[in-house]
Amino acid sequence: MIRLNENYLKLQASYLFSEIAKRVNTYQAEHPDQKIIRLGIGDVTRALPNACIEAFHKAVDEMANDTTFRGYGPEQGYAFLREKVAEHDYRARNAEISPDEIFISDGAKCDTGNFQELFALDVRIAVPDPVYPVYVDTNVMAGRTAAWKDGRYEGLVYLESTAANDYVPELPKEKVDLIYLCFPNNPTGRTITKAQLRPWVEYARENKALILYDAAYVEFIRDDSLPQSIYEIDGAQEVAVEFRSFSKTAGFTGTRCAYTVVPKRCKIYDSQGNAHALHPFWDRRHSTKFNGVSYPVQRAAEAAYSPEGKQQVRELSDYYLKNAALIRETISKIGFSCVGGDHAPYVWVKTNTDSWQFFDVLLQRAGVVCTPGAGFGKCGEGYVRFSAFNSHDNVAKALQQVTEALKNL
Ligand code: PLP
Repeated sequence: MIRLNENYLKLQASYLFSEIAKRVNTYQAEHPDQKIIRLGIGDVTRALPNACIEAFHKAVDEMANDTTFRGYGPEQGYAFLREKVAEHDYRARNAEISPDEIFISDGAKCDTGNFQELFALDVRIAVPDPVYPVYVDTNVMAGRTAAWKDGRYEGLVYLESTAANDYVPELPKEKVDLIYLCFPNNPTGRTITKAQLRPWVEYARENKALILYDAAYVEFIRDDSLPQSIYEIDGAQEVAVEFRSFSKTAGFTGTRCAYTVVPKRCKIYDSQGNAHALHPFWDRRHSTKFNGVSYPVQRAAEAAYSPEGKQQVRELSDYYLKNAALIRETISKIGFSCVGGDHAPYVWVKTNTDSWQFFDVLLQRAGVVCTPGAGFGKCGEGYVRFSAFNSHDNVAKALQQVTEALKNL
């Protein structure tokens, strides 16, 4: 008899985006002429930078010729891309990371989801609340939690991000072994300063813990004093793994390319307390279960680091940041408090009502879709997330409609 991994029975149905789709479809069916503007989903809307497209085309042509064709590449990624990442994303910021500490992959979703395979089932885990759900669900699937109760999984430590702590969680009161952090944050759009990040690194060093640092939105940081990598904090190389992606940086959500940094100095411990380097274990896992990102995609990602590519990537994120600033400014003017949107493509709005109720008001009175914060965790109740990933025209129009709708409430 083929038996189920019953941890899957603990999973809550992926309710958020299906429920949004259901409500939007119902409303659209009742109002066929209304043009609905979507500021809900975190997917980019603009084309790939030209430098990436040119490199992509050229690499496809290489695949069409026997003399330049490439079959399986290195599972960890081609050296040309790993070298560019190390040089531009780390050494340029005085973070000492070498190319062989970088693992190219097809997405930060897969990497943040898969990394937990390296850990014992009884490690104590701290996750942010609100949270990008992948960190939680993959640990549920693996059996590191008990049942779902009162809106949370028993067995996890929740790091609450609320107005009371300005959306940067405090260190856990209890001892934990694994900590997920994400800055700039999805969904709050909040960033962290070096002074706020340093205690996390110190905590991990003192407790032999590991930080999984998701920096998928780092391209949106405009304040140079903010850390763009956890490795800008002294000692982080020994206690942190970092995830980055070309998805929101260079518009690769449909093209798929990302990377994970596992420093060779980073440690993990066996049941006897003996220290091991973490790097060879991820290398083993990655090369056993993954066969590399396609050559043309890696060439396209490499082109994001050329002088033209860098400029075009910056223009893309500037474009979305302009939307984010307008969202933040307009929503504040109407009288709602919000965070994010200055160094992130998300604005997190305190609704003063139930998240879904506010969602319905915006949909029905303004024809605008946002994301109810409750879908990201208990601390998201009473908030909605606006995404800046849309055209300037659509964002401006949506905000006009939102202003009208909320004025007449
Ligand atoms: N990490 C966070 C915090 C995200 O919000 C997302 C996507 O929305 C990802 C990772 C996934 O990135 P990728 O497209 O590289 O899988």
